Amino acid sequence: MHITLPSGETVRPGKLLCIGRNYAAHVREMGDVADLPAEPVVFLKPSTALLPSGGTVALPRQSADVHHELELVAVIGTGGRHIAEADALGHVAAYALGLDLTARDLQARAKANKGPWSVAKGFDTFAPLGPLTPAEQVGDPQALTITLTINGEVRQQGTTDHMIFPVARLVSYLSSVFTLEPGDLIYTGTPEGVGPLHDGDRLEATGTGLEPLVVTVQAA
Ligand code: MN
Repeated sequence: MHITLPSGETVRPGKLLCIGRNYAAHVREMGDVADLPAEPVVFLKPSTALLPSGGTVALPRQSADVHHELELVAVIGTGGRHIAEADALGHVAAYALGLDLTARDLQARAKANKGPWSVAKGFDTFAPLGPLTPAEQVGDPQALTITLTINGEVRQQGTTDHMIFPVARLVSYLSSVFTLEPGDLIYTGTPEGVGPLHDGDRLEATGTGLEPLVVTVQAA
């Protein structure tokens, strides 16, 4: 999947940088309360997991428990490395709504085995991404309310000022490890209310000043 940045440049996102445990209430619901992170918890998804709005999520045969995680996504416009926190938001070209879909049963097994989450997080269609809204139209990324409805019922609602690590801090931190490039996507973590998906579900994500994201779910 390609995306078009507000500059008009069309790119295939190179990296999907995903942040775990970035809302305290979600950390609590996962039973990890002793585990509030001192620095961002980072994992990656392959760009083949991307799915545009209007697409169909394919539930994989390997999992019986795929969860939705509603997230604000920051889209890098200007790359860089070792970006200062004070300059970080200037590197974000746009924001979008995203879903970090997670095979919770496979993730639980990986956690028990002290293994990585790549399989639980990386299936095709496990990274739905809504249309981009230019960053200057969005304004303060920590002042947004994001909502997920499934079949018309609200399942997740969060405000981005509850992030443990705000977007500027994430961009700065991530750029100290990875060279950031135009089109890289940062999935900034989910508020509480995660839960399972079922065949035929219709998911609609909305957020303050953001274009909606709509996907449907299909079992294997
Ligand atoms: Mn997540």
